[in-house]
Amino acid sequence: MNILFASSEIFPFAKSGGLADVAGSLPKAMSEENSVEVIMPLYKFIDRAGYNIKHVMSYELKIGFVIYPVSIHSCIYEGITCWFLYSPILCDRDYLYGSGGSYSDNDVRFGIFCYGVLKWIDLTKKKLDILHLNDWQTALMAWISKQYEFNFKILLTIHNLAFQGIFSKLSMKRLGIDWRYFKMEGLEFYDKINILKAGIVYSDALTTVSPTYAEEILTPAFGCGLDGVLIANKRKLKGILNGIDTHIFSPKTDRLIAHQYDKNRLSLKQKNKRYFCEKIGFSDKMGLIIFIGRLTRQKGVDLILEAADKLSRLHINIAILGSGSIKQNELFEKMSERHKNISVTVGYDEVQARIMYAAADFLLMPSLFEPCGLNQMIAMRYGTVPIVRKTGGLKDSVHDFSLNLPGGQGICFDKPSSSELYEAVSRAISLKCDNRRFKIIKKHNMKSDFSWEKSAKEYIAIYKELLEDRDENKSGE
Ligand code: ADP
Repeated sequence: MNILFASSEIFPFAKSGGLADVAGSLPKAMSEENSVEVIMPLYKFIDRAGYNIKHVMSYELKIGFVIYPVSIHSCIYEGITCWFLYSPILCDRDYLYGSGGSYSDNDVRFGIFCYGVLKWIDLTKKKLDILHLNDWQTALMAWISKQYEFNFKILLTIHNLAFQGIFSKLSMKRLGIDWRYFKMEGLEFYDKINILKAGIVYSDALTTVSPTYAEEILTPAFGCGLDGVLIANKRKLKGILNGIDTHIFSPKTDRLIAHQYDKNRLSLKQKNKRYFCEKIGFSDKMGLIIFIGRLTRQKGVDLILEAADKLSRLHINIAILGSGSIKQNELFEKMSERHKNISVTVGYDEVQARIMYAAADFLLMPSLFEPCGLNQMIAMRYGTVPIVRKTGGLKDSVHDFSLNLPGGQGICFDKPSSSELYEAVSRAISLKCDNRRFKIIKKHNMKSDFSWEKSAKEYIAIYKELLEDRDENKSGE
């Protein structure tokens, strides 16, 4: 099978969150028996020389009435052929999507990516069975491909339904889309254009990143306005739990942490805790809870802000790493000024994140919704026990330790309220006091399987079904 995996971010080239981790690890997991290649934009900050990225070809792209220059580049990274599409409007920016908001021309930027990739496939007569799209930035390819006579099938993975690529209807013109597609069964969404919707309607199969989230998004509470469209396309939809790259996220080999360790050398985890606590002025004798992630409503940050006063009175330290809007960042910084057991670092820092996973006793994820969430799996690999709200992928990957089930174990709570969060943190403190049990849970999590192996097989099974359909239809023609 020839698979092309298209994403707006792929680790290690560019990352803003979990999508990059998935795009960096799932193709690798599927490449044993298949030819899997990836394609992404060649943002200006990607280190071309460092990754040995070479120019391959250039061409012009006409979208609507505008002509854009485009070039294709490539490199091999960890055995995977990686393609990059460059065009100045798409790539010559400081951020992937904007800072503290979105660039207003993201429709055109990712439109160039979508049209550009398909033109490249067409120009080079690329042999392809499956085009695997990810999120709205690539979703338009599902619609564009219908304008060609391609022989491949398209699968779209929704990593987060909250990001849909909604723009004014003037985008129809900017993206060169005929007005006859501006209808409820097409790209129209409350008199605007919705690019993710184009992907949902025109792709051959849909997945999202956990079984629970796949059910949740069919309801008005989680459907972000698209639950109706998703229900109409339900037969195409499946939830497959993400995995993590267990080679990258391994405390045994992680060079970014001060002391490498495994489940039999947990005293070295304590040394990582000491190292981090000294750095930020905490005592390593107290329990340490971390939060790493975007400081947005989705991640339950309002609950943390609300519970802060009560949490500050507990015998525990809390270290937060993340960034959100300017206002949200300020609220967090002010909270840490008020409470000496809460430290906040605003920013995105891969190294700091890894140091924190290795140092902490607990990871807090009080998300209002969570399509999958990778932090909890990374944390469990590092022997850091997750405290999660039971939603989406958190529900599928973490069971409350009191149930003693296989798979991940942590502390789970139900309602998105600051009082339940506070209760959960209190339970965590009690658990930590029970040294023996705490250690058993840490070890259990460290040996649980969070790899891609099982999920990669599920993706391949969907690809195979799609190709069977294709080949049956062809032989029936
Ligand atoms: P998201 O919804 O943001 O994609 P996920 O849990 O799916 O959340 O993935 C988050 C990934 O991004 C994890 O690898 C996490 O460690 C990383 N991450 C999130 N915020 C930060 C940050 N501020 N600094 C470093 N890494 C971060």
